[in-house]
Amino acid sequence: MTERLDYLVMDGEVVRYDQAVLHIGTPAVRYGATAFEGVRAYWNDEERELYMFRAREHVSRLLQSARLMGMDPIEYGVEDVIELMIDLLKANDVRQGVHLRPSLFVAGEGSIQARGPVALGIIAVPAGAVVDTGGWERRPFRLAISSWRRIEDNTTPPRIKCAANYQNARLALLQAETDGYDGALMLDSRGHVTEEARACVFAVRGVDVVTPPVTSDILESITRDTVISLLREVHGTQVVERDVDRTELYVADEVFLCGTALGVTPVGSVDRFDVGHGAPGPITSTVNRTYVDAASGRDESRSAWLTPVYGR
Ligand code: PMP
Repeated sequence: MTERLDYLVMDGEVVRYDQAVLHIGTPAVRYGATAFEGVRAYWNDEERELYMFRAREHVSRLLQSARLMGMDPIEYGVEDVIELMIDLLKANDVRQGVHLRPSLFVAGEGSIQARGPVALGIIAVPAGAVVDTGGWERRPFRLAISSWRRIEDNTTPPRIKCAANYQNARLALLQAETDGYDGALMLDSRGHVTEEARACVFAVRGVDVVTPPVTSDILESITRDTVISLLREVHGTQVVERDVDRTELYVADEVFLCGTALGVTPVGSVDRFDVGHGAPGPITSTVNRTYVDAASGRDESRSAWLTPVYGR
């Protein structure tokens, strides 16, 4: 399989990659009228099976984002979009980890108020082994608290996963990269920690694991929900959803990020304050392992989270 797959989905049809062209006059381009998702599929070599992880939750969030953005209702339901993702993976004969990116966008040449026509596009991008193991081969991330504030629920709601919101993340990530960091944590207008530009954040403080609540201007992350349930149900760890101060991250025993693309990623420092002992801590390590097992089909008790692509 090459870096660029041969097929994608455009307007609900599987077509060759270069057949999908978009006019610069579309509201999607001019105004960022695009809702999108990132969905992971993990290859399980023993079973020769490709599993999409929590695809239903991701597609439901996509439809919800489009609805909140005022797009016309589309003809596809959750199961239809999942079928198209399966068709796409089969057309490309994918037998490795991939990142699926379904988007719903306002096509045509309408004004800023155009609600349609709404088009569905899906691309699949090969995802390397780094992500397959939850980002584990990487050295722990060095994070900075960004001087860019997080967008908020009454401006451009982070709960909506749309392209326009990612200009906020992009500014923070570019600043972090220029300053020599791997990622950017963003504060809300009250100065509390929200999330990293593309992932949620957890901190271990003594026996508790703390994370900002879903009302703290974060994306309602599906991996965050997965990690909370694994910590509570498998590891018996107390997870407290509450406001988190930036200096709590400086003194935490462990800090980790989680998200579809980053998996569970250990954090080694925040604003150059070392976290823990420089290596991934015990809670980060165990939740990473259970997350990877669940996502790749090695934990049968979590099979409800998986959609097999080939063996149906
Ligand atoms: N926060 C932001 C800002 C993100 O972009 C992402 C990635 N989608 C996440 C959190 C993690 O969300 P999820 O676990 O649903 O991928």
